[in-house]
Order: sequence, then C-alpha cells, then structure tokens
Amino acid sequence: MSASISSSNISAAEEILTAGLQKAADKNVGMACSFSVEDLVVIDLLRNIAPQVTIFAIDTGRLHEETYGVAEALLQKYGLNIDWYLPQTEALQQLEREKGLFSFRESLENRHECCHIRKVEPLGRALAGRTGWITGQRRAQSTTRNGLEGIEVDEAHGGIIKINPLIDWDDERVWTYATDHRLPVNRLHSQGYPSIGCAPCTRAIKPGEDTRAGRWWWENPENKECGLHRR
Ligand code: SF4
Repeated sequence: MSASISSSNISAAEEILTAGLQKAADKNVGMACSFSVEDLVVIDLLRNIAPQVTIFAIDTGRLHEETYGVAEALLQKYGLNIDWYLPQTEALQQLEREKGLFSFRESLENRHECCHIRKVEPLGRALAGRTGWITGQRRAQSTTRNGLEGIEVDEAHGGIIKINPLIDWDDERVWTYATDHRLPVNRLHSQGYPSIGCAPCTRAIKPGEDTRAGRWWWENPENKECGLHRR
C-alpha cells in the first residue's frame, strides 16, 4: 500500500460506512453504483465489512459499452450480481416518440425531463422501502458537492440515511486505492473521462478543466447534477 493511501484513510471511510449502517439500523441498505472509480472503491470496502449490502444500478439505456464492461468485470471479480433498474417503458416511449432521441440538448427543462425518466424515477423505485443508501460522492468532485456530509438524512428520499464514505478523499487517494486493489476501472478514464455518465452527455475533458466539465458541458456548472442527489 502506498504512503498516500494510508490505513487511516481507509479506516475513516470504513468508520463512516459502519456508523452509517448502524444509523440505518443495518437493514435493507443499498449501494448506488454508477460504475465510477469511486463506486468501485466503495464496493471493494463493502465486500470486507458489509457484504450483505445490495449493489444496485440504473441502466438508462444510454450508457457507454465500456460502462457495461465494468459491470461484467465486477461479476468476474466478486461474483457480484447487480440489481438493475430500468426506466418505465411507457414514459420512455412517449419521450422518444414526441421529442426524439436528443431532446436533452435543447433546454435545461428537457434535460431534466430525460434525467427524470431515465434516472430519477428508477432511483425512486430502487430506494423504495430502504432504510439507507450508500454513494461514492466526494466533496472535491464539483461545486455542487461542497456541502456533502459523510452521513446525511436524505429528506429528498423520505428521510432515509445517505452514506458518503469517500467524502474527503481526493483524486490521488481514490486512484491509488484503485491501483493497489486492481479494481476494474472503466477504460474511458484513461481516455480523458474523469466523470462518466450517459454517453451522449459525457465528453473527455481537456488538461486543466474541472473533473466534471465533461458532463452536460453545454450547461452552467451549478446545473451539473441529474437529480439523483437532490439536497
Ligand atoms: S444524462 Fe443525458 S441521456 Fe442520461 S438521462 Fe440525463 S439527459 Fe438523458
């Protein structure tokens, strides 16, 4: 293990996970996986301290092939079956028939509509009946995440517990852990994609750009969330 990812860094994340799970009564807690490198770190930590936690993911229908490849690699590495949630067929058919396949580029309202149908509504179903959920979010990822706490009460999802164990990790810590533990990171990361979402709404970034500059790059930075993490 390298010096930059000391055991105390890992302990802090494990302590947040353990305390968060206790606060959620350790019942029916799910981990939301978008197959980011952060999510892979959290999944690896969970394998050791809370393997009972369900790992779920949302298949928006617009993910990169490389992202599906990560899901397959997790199956190979851990025997991990993902609990997939898909958009409602009727809502998706109506959207595509009425507005086409790229309406999200036309306005913020249209983008939110697409994110709601493809992500937010399925997330609501994924969280229904849960006492808590776990994410790989970090404060350093963007201006929209400055106010994150390690353990939060998620009022937007019925007051369940939201656990963000990597809250204070920086890029170096995340990547050192991923390398040390040979995590099956998305190949797009090495092609200039630090943050990966749906294929048509994600681009590679240029040197010096913010790590989330490639997400919905045509919008202002304060809008760069999809509604999954309302605060
Ligand atoms: S990220 Fe883009 S394609 Fe994916 S749900 Fe949001 S608007 Fe739609």
